[in-house]
Amino acid sequence: MNQDFELKELGQIKYFNCRELDNTNLVVNAFTTRTGGVSRTPFDNLNLSYNVGDEESRVAENRKIILDSLNIDYRTTITAQQVHKDKISLVRKEDKGKGAFKYSKGIAQTDALITDIPGIPLLMCYADCVPIFILDPVKKAIALIHSGRKGTELELTLKTLFKMKKIFESHPRSCLAAIFPSIGPCCYCIKEENKIDDYWLNEIKYNGEPISLQNKSGRSLDLRKANYGQLIKGGVEEKNIFVNEICTADYPELFFSYRRDKGNTGRMAAIFMLK
Ligand SMILES: [Zn+2]
Repeated sequence: MNQDFELKELGQIKYFNCRELDNTNLVVNAFTTRTGGVSRTPFDNLNLSYNVGDEESRVAENRKIILDSLNIDYRTTITAQQVHKDKISLVRKEDKGKGAFKYSKGIAQTDALITDIPGIPLLMCYADCVPIFILDPVKKAIALIHSGRKGTELELTLKTLFKMKKIFESHPRSCLAAIFPSIGPCCYCIKEENKIDDYWLNEIKYNGEPISLQNKSGRSLDLRKANYGQLIKGGVEEKNIFVNEICTADYPELFFSYRRDKGNTGRMAAIFMLK
C-alpha cells in the first residue's frame, strides 16, 4: 500500500485512512473493512448496510462500533439509498440522521453526497464499487461518491466536481481527492458476449492509457483508472489525487466483494465528515 494511506487498527476494528486528507485537519475520513463487527455469515462481521438482508439491530450495532471509534455519534450519520445513477444531493443540517437506522429513510436515489456543513457525517456503502472522497480545503466543502460501473459510465465523479463548482464555488485545482479500495481490473471482467457501454471503448484516459483492455476471457474494466481520469478531466491536479490500489475481491479476510461473493455479502462504508 502506498504511503498516502494507512490501515488503522483499533483492537478488532480495521479501517483505511487517507493521510493526505487527515493532514489538512479539516476532515474525518475512513473506509471500513469487514472486521470487528457483530454480524453473522455472510455479513460477517462489520456489515454497515441495512439493505442486504442482515438484521437491522446488528447493522445499527456495527455502525455504533465503527463510528464510536471515530468519535462520531452514529445516530447523526447521513446515508443514501444508492441506485447506481448520477444524482448528487446537497446535504443540509436538517438531514442529520437520515438513514442512520433505516435504509428507507436515507436520501433517495442518490450516489453522491456533498456538503459544506461541519459536523455532518456522510456515510455510503460499498462492496467493489469505487469510493471517491473530494475535499475543497479553501471553500471547506466535501463530496462522497459511490461510483460503480454504471456511475462511472454516467461520469458521476466529473459531474460532482461541476456541482461543487456551482454550489460552493470550488475550484478543482484546490481540491484534494482520494480513491479508496475497490475492485481492480484483475477481477472485473465482462465476458465477450455481453455488450459493454461505448464509454469503456472510447474513453482514452489519463496519459493515453485505456480504461479497459481486451483479454482472453473478455474485457477487463479499470473503474479506478476511469474515475481517476474523470478527476483529471474535471481539473483536479495529479499531485492532489491519492489512489489506493488494493483490490476488494482479492482479500476476503478484509473486504466484502459483490462479484467474488456472487451478490450475497455485506457492505463496507466510506465515512467522511467536515470537522
Ligand atoms: Zn483483484
